[in-house]
Formats: sequence, structure tokens, C-alpha cells
Amino acid sequence: MKVALIGIGKIAQDQHVPAIHSSPDWELAATVSRKGSVAGVPAFDDLDRFLKERPDVPVVSLCMPPLPRFDYARAALLAGRHVMLEKPPGATLAEVHELEALARDRGLSLYATWHSRMAHAVAPAKAWLADKTIARGHITWHEDVRKWHPGQDWVFEPGGMGVFDPGINALSILTEILPRPVHLRQARLEFPSNRQTPIAAQLEFSGQITADFDWRQEGPQTWDITVETTEGTLALRTGGNVLEIDGRVVAGQSTIMGEYPALYARMAELVRTRSSDVDLSPMVHVSDALMLGRREITDAFHF
Ligand code: NAP
Repeated sequence: MKVALIGIGKIAQDQHVPAIHSSPDWELAATVSRKGSVAGVPAFDDLDRFLKERPDVPVVSLCMPPLPRFDYARAALLAGRHVMLEKPPGATLAEVHELEALARDRGLSLYATWHSRMAHAVAPAKAWLADKTIARGHITWHEDVRKWHPGQDWVFEPGGMGVFDPGINALSILTEILPRPVHLRQARLEFPSNRQTPIAAQLEFSGQITADFDWRQEGPQTWDITVETTEGTLALRTGGNVLEIDGRVVAGQSTIMGEYPALYARMAELVRTRSSDVDLSPMVHVSDALMLGRREITDAFHF
């Protein structure tokens, strides 16, 4: 199947392009980006022109930041294209509901991707937890915003989500592996004095689940989830890619490079079966944290 990548920036170059090139299902047939392009691939700098001139490309994958994504997704669906959305799937919940209804009405596939759910050890972790009684759980998601979002001021603008941009990856795993849903009870959000979104957050959920997100960690990065049960302790390391039970590695691989190939395989399946996959539960928790969180001001942040 032919696919066009829209919004050629960091994640398109780091993950989408290699995943498409290595897939037996997909051919990268075009790019749409105001400045970016991919060597050897026909490039458009305007979506409307692409939609008009390339009716042979049935699928588009949107890789730009969340704020502008709705307009691109809506235009593509109205032009009869199947749509794949980077995470988080939009800037608001309502706009994603609108896209979902539009795709349904037109018989098109919409895929709100969560790349961390495709990490190697998420499915085994979910299977292990399915029949356990959970006592408590904790997420530690500490990374360096300068490394993963170099100079990207949009992450600190309204709609950029701040530290929830990576934190939502942890929440996408949590909502996948827990046998029962949880809800947010309270949150503390740290906003740099010169920015519109938080750089750190501490969350407390029902079911004794807590989370600590921080975007100021230099050196080794930490993406860990631990869940204590009456029958042992589960730890997911490396962003869901390695599973330990009671300190012993039992599944997974210490690499994040399997996630995007798995997303594209899933999109191929959705298009073939004319179905959609839109789960907004990770974004509901972020939205709740921004509604409920106590706001504190911290040091100004500059890239
Ligand atoms: P980015 O490099 O800042 O943006 C990607 C591209 O989107 C830009 O190069 C730009 O291309 C286009 N774009 C930016 N603003 C736009 C606007 N207002 N209207 C239209 N196009 C615009 O961001 P990114 O790091 O790739 O992140 C994009 C998405 O991927 C985010 O939702 C993020 O959460 C997700 N993601 C990122 C990472 C990561 O490590 N950075 C990892 C996983 C997922 P043109 O200027 O050429 O149009």
C-alpha cells in the first residue's frame, strides 16, 4: 500500500521513514511538509495539492505536532484517505471524537497510535497481570527534553502538553496493562515561570497507582513502571521493552526500535479490514491532570 508521510521532522525521520522502508506492507509514495522532505520521495509542500494530484495514495500518516493535526486529518478524511495519527492523537479530546465520527461515516480507517504500547514487553506484562491482585504501582518517567525535543518550543506552548508529551507514553502502557481502569485523584504540576505547559508532574490515581514525570533528567534516561501484586513484583523497563518479575528478566528486548514497525503492521491490518483503532484513555488522564492539578511555578526553562 502507498502511504504519504505528513510533517517531516524528528519523529518522521527517526522512526517512520525506517519503519516504512523495512515493511513488506508499505511504500513511501510522497511526503507533505512545508520544509522537510525524504531523499528520493516525491515531495509536496501543500496538503491540498497532494490530495488533488495523488489520488493513488490511499493512506496518510500525520507526524506533525498535535496542535495543527486536526485540520490535516479532517482534510485527508474528507478526501477519502485512511489516516494514522502520531501520539497524542490531537490537541483536545473533542477534536479526536470528531475525526472518529468522520472516519466511521465515510467507511475509512483512523488509527490513533500509541507507539509505547507496541514495546516488546507490554503484551507479556498485560498477560502476567491479568489474574493478579494489585497492591500498588509506580511510574518513573524521567527524560531530557533537550535530547528528545531539541529547540521544539511547541512542547511548551498551549496544546504541546509539556512533560505529558512523554508522560502520555507511560499512561498508554498503564491503561493497556492494568486489568481494571483507574482514575486520577490528584496531581501536582510544575510550570517553568516562562512557559505554558508543565516540565514535571506527580500524579496519584485510584488503586494506589502513582506517577512521577520529569523532563529535566540529563544522562541515563528512566522509563520504568513497577507494579506490586500479592504474587510478586512486575517491573517494565526501557519504556515497556523489558519485563522483570521479582528482579529477573523474563521477556522483551532492550531496544525501542520494534515499536514503529508494529504500528505500521497494525495500520495495514486496519486498512485491510476497514476498521479503526481510537483509544483515548491515556489522553483522558492527561486532560484530568490538567483540570485537577495543583499548579506550582518553577525555574524558567530555555533550550
Ligand atoms: P517536530 O520535529 O517539531 O515536528 C515535525 C514536523 O511537523 C516539523 O518538522 C514541521 O515540518 C511540521 N510542523 C510543525 N509545526 C507545524 C504546523 N504548525 N503546521 C504544520 N506542520 C507543522 O516534532 P516531532 O518531534 O517530530 O514530534 C511530532 C509528533 O511526534 C508529536 O506529537 C510527538 O509527541 C510525537 N513523537 C515525538 C517523538 C520524539 O522523540 N521527538 C517520539 C515519539 C512521538 P515542516 O516545517 O516541514 O512542515
